[in-house]
This record gives sequence, structure tokens and C-alpha cells, in this order.
Amino acid sequence: LYVDHPLGQGQSVPLDRDQAHYLFGVMRQQLGAQVALFNGRDGEWRAEVVEAGKRGGTLECREQTRPLQMPPDLWLIFAPIKKARTDFIVEKAAEMGAARIIPVQTDFTNSERIRQDRLQAHAVEAAEQCGGTFVPEVTDLQKLDRLLADWPEDRKLMFCDEAEVGAGKVLGEAGPGPWAILIGPEGGFSEAERKRLHALPFTHVVSLGPRILRADTAAVAALTVWQQALGD
Ligand code: SAM
Repeated sequence: LYVDHPLGQGQSVPLDRDQAHYLFGVMRQQLGAQVALFNGRDGEWRAEVVEAGKRGGTLECREQTRPLQMPPDLWLIFAPIKKARTDFIVEKAAEMGAARIIPVQTDFTNSERIRQDRLQAHAVEAAEQCGGTFVPEVTDLQKLDRLLADWPEDRKLMFCDEAEVGAGKVLGEAGPGPWAILIGPEGGFSEAERKRLHALPFTHVVSLGPRILRADTAAVAALTVWQQALGD
């Protein structure tokens, strides 16, 4: 169970109404039950139910069962598309071990607004589902220009676009380190964006094959190739 609360030896963890409903109503847990907790920061803890009510409850941490497992230092940057497909991208990126998920506004971005809180909740659910102890941060919508202007010097950019060379080969040659994957919107990147991206010293332009993939497919394909080439 995910909780947004510090976890540690003897730590009391309050449950809100939704968590209490899930744990005591849906999962039928009672006083004394042992529950696995994580908060994305302190690893996984075994906790005991010490108070159980309809509107809330309390758990007490007993022992750490797993330390925090950090994913590789990989960002996924993507232009949001339709709601359900954007949700899909966030969910899959969290499952595939992206450390940070950054929705960006590009020249041809289809959606000008996102619900960051909803997307973050999807990342939490995905981490819960795949037994992770880490939850990637989903940032607010950022402008691609701004992001590139503030780019951290040592981070390499896997720019998924029309390219001669396949992603696996490019990544193998560029080697490990902090990376970011960039996926465009349905309309792709504008010529101005392409020109700028090509000129940046940290860009590695890659192909994901001869077919034009939908943005959500491209995100999963890019994460898979990256994990295969440079992941743990
Ligand atoms: N007509 C668009 C264009 O001209 O680029 C197609 C965009 S595609 C639906 C959405 C995004 O997925 C692209 O901007 C790119 O980042 C990524 N993508 C899709 N297929 C790809 C491929 N075969 N190689 C590399 N990137 C791809």
C-alpha cells in the first residue's frame, strides 16, 4: 500500500478515508493485520494495523522488508496526447523504470493542459502494481524550449525521430550515464524544433524502426530499447 508519510521503526502511519475503505472494506483486513507499506522514499515496511475504522485508521511500522530500489537515472519526456493514451504512457513509464516523467509542450502538442495530480496518481498505482519501492515524479507540463535551455550538462538525450541509425546501436555507442528519452506528439516535431535538437551537443537522434509508431507505442518501444541497452 502506498502512503504519503514517512516510514521508519515504530513510526505511526495514519490512514485517510479512502485508504481505510480499501484496506478494511475491500481487502477485509482487521486489527493486527500485517500490511506492506511504501512511500517511494523509505523502502518497503511491514506494518501492523493498530486502529481500524470506517473513516480512517493507524498502522505501525515493525520492520523494513526491502530497501529503496532506485531506478536508473532515466527521464521520459513526451508531448501529451489524448487523455487515455497519456495515462497509458505514464503508467508504462513508471512500470518500465523511468525515474522522472516530464510532459512537454511542443510546437504541435495536441493538449495544452494536463492534470498533473491524476498522472502522479497513475505513477503511484503503477509502482504499487509492479512491486516497486520507488515512485517516479511526474512534473507539470513544461515548455520544450525551456527544458532544453536549462538542460543538465551531463545528461544525454535520446531523440526519437526519423533517423538512419537504430536506437540500440546509438545507445551502445553513447554508453551509460544520465539519459532522457524524447517522444513527440502525433504531428511529430516542427522543423524549427528538429533543427534546434540536432544542433544540441547532448542529442543522440535514433530510429525505432521503419514504421511510424503512435506516440504511446513509441514511448514503450524507446523505454524497452533503453533498458535492454543500458538498464540494470
Ligand atoms: N508524422 C509524425 C512525424 O512526422 O514525425 C509522426 C509522429 S509519431 C506518431 C509520434 C512520435 O513517436 C514521433 O515524434 C517520434 O518521437 C516517435 N516515433 C514514432 N515512430 C518512430 C520511429 N519509427 N522512430 C523514431 N521515433 C518514432
